[in-house]
Amino acid sequence: MKIERVTSHVLRYELPEELGYSQQYYRHRTAHLVEIQTDEGVTGWGECFGPGNVAIANKAIVETVIQPMIQGEDPVNRDMIWHKVYNLLRDHGQKGMPLQALSGVDIALWDITGKIAGLPIYKLLGGAHRTEVPVYGYGMMLRREPAETLISQFGEEAAAIKAAGFVATKMKVGLGVEHDVKLAEAVRRGVGDDFPFMVDANHCYTTSDALFVGRALDELGAYWFEEPVVPEDYEGYRELRTKLDTNIAGGEAEFSRWGWRRLLESNGLDIAQPEVCGLGGISEYIKVATLCQAHHVPIVNHVWGSGIAVATNLQLLAALAPMPGGLFPREPMLEFDTTHNLFRDELLTVPLDIQAQVAANNGRVGIPDGPGLGVEPDRDFLDVYKVG
Ligand code: CA
Repeated sequence: MKIERVTSHVLRYELPEELGYSQQYYRHRTAHLVEIQTDEGVTGWGECFGPGNVAIANKAIVETVIQPMIQGEDPVNRDMIWHKVYNLLRDHGQKGMPLQALSGVDIALWDITGKIAGLPIYKLLGGAHRTEVPVYGYGMMLRREPAETLISQFGEEAAAIKAAGFVATKMKVGLGVEHDVKLAEAVRRGVGDDFPFMVDANHCYTTSDALFVGRALDELGAYWFEEPVVPEDYEGYRELRTKLDTNIAGGEAEFSRWGWRRLLESNGLDIAQPEVCGLGGISEYIKVATLCQAHHVPIVNHVWGSGIAVATNLQLLAALAPMPGGLFPREPMLEFDTTHNLFRDELLTVPLDIQAQVAANNGRVGIPDGPGLGVEPDRDFLDVYKVG
């Protein structure tokens, strides 16, 4: 079997309301799917992390840079193809968009391999450690409202996410440290004392500001503090981990085994959040997961994007060994965005229907067990939302 054609589908729609995180407000949702066709009619799907115009640029990398490197190759040869592409792109970017582009291509090759073998990807990876995963619901995005309004909205939204059945919730911060502490206090009040909540700063703090907020989170019993400082600041991560009780989480902006090696060796993470659609795809995720295990850092994947990205992550979460194991191990959770996302809820021919599963099944969702990713995008849906 040979790779014949690699196509990027960039999808976009206008959200019903503007949403924000500590770096920007945004009005549109984008997704970037990669389709690989073979000469024997088997087609695989993958997804690249990267919103907005980043997706448009990554499409060019996928179709005009990577496609000619891999046309004619046997799609089953994932690791050989990965290294061929990476080695040719190394001089032009060992992190960032070239790796995001390669990620979507690699995931599509795993989908094809699973379809050829007649096995779900979690079986290709060594088998399922669990048949369902707990789901945490994130929301509490920033909005252009006065801080006082947002503080009361965050409390109500947190309570609604808990009531929807999710096992934990995650909020954004980024209004400035004084307001951010009030936002976190509102979320704690909204969910009550015994429900886990996490705080995502999207790297908007200096180390001293992060310490100020982190000490308040220690008092509130937050479960983790995500991306408190910029991803380049390995020393800042380590200082925060040493001085705070709250778990320090991060890694969604780290790439490849070499980037992750440096991050893990800096001892700044309690919880690793690899992004399979960005760091290099499933072939590279396996290596990063092994590095995390070797450093005794548990993994809770970063999940963003469409139903293809969610299905990819469900396959990986099924196959992730419990860390450290035991009768009642702490299971890796699926990250789930509770805000409006048509590309997750309506893209697939058979929807994952995660919200309904969560509500009916104690906050848990099953693993697709069809061949490959176990899901297929609806081509009519793609035609409606495709912008490039
Ligand atoms: Ca995040």
